[in-house]
Amino acid sequence: AARDVGPLRAAGRLVVLAGPTAVGKGTVSAHIRDNYPEVLLSVSATTRPPRPGEVDGRHYYFVSDEQFDAMIEGNDFLEYATVHNASRYGTPRPPIEAALAEGRSVLLEIDLQGARAVREAMPDALLVFLLPPSWEELVRRLTGRGTESAAEQARRLETAKVELAAQHEFDVRVVNHDVGRAAREVVELLAVPGTDSART
Ligand code: 5GP
Repeated sequence: AARDVGPLRAAGRLVVLAGPTAVGKGTVSAHIRDNYPEVLLSVSATTRPPRPGEVDGRHYYFVSDEQFDAMIEGNDFLEYATVHNASRYGTPRPPIEAALAEGRSVLLEIDLQGARAVREAMPDALLVFLLPPSWEELVRRLTGRGTESAAEQARRLETAKVELAAQHEFDVRVVNHDVGRAAREVVELLAVPGTDSART
């Protein structure tokens, strides 16, 4: 059902991209970061260690438990959560508020708990759910990544089932057949409301 996102304070829009594990959220987000520089891709803080190739400040801010606690204390997070691998993840608030104030759109790539928390904190946010073309394809993508143990893969599949069941809480669903196409659909959603809000 269409949800009234209300008058927007600026042309910048906050969009949350969520979806089951291994659906390709990270790939779609990276594609948007690299091809649509007008969109700010929020960089989360996490207590999990970097994977090979991950760069601090680009993929995540890799922080200690003590640093994460200090950020909670300082009210520096728009939302934060403990995710299935038992590490903590949080969305830094200041860069988002600054971008939206400038009329720049912001994309958050976070999990389901995070999406729900953002909906509470910022009711104007648009929640987008990224879907795999099929369950079989999701399993293929999950096992194909090869960075997790069998036990970790099983845990992620369970999480994916729970996450897929929540898709109807979202404003929009985008099927990830192709990275470029999914990215374009998300960016088009980011661009829409500027004109509408000018009329209110
Ligand atoms: P990964 O460790 O594979 O990079 O991410 C694990 C999960 O954490 C993913 O589902 C990802 O979307 C989620 N995640 C990443 N950053 C954040 C965040 O700032 N907040 C929340 N709630 N989840 C996040």
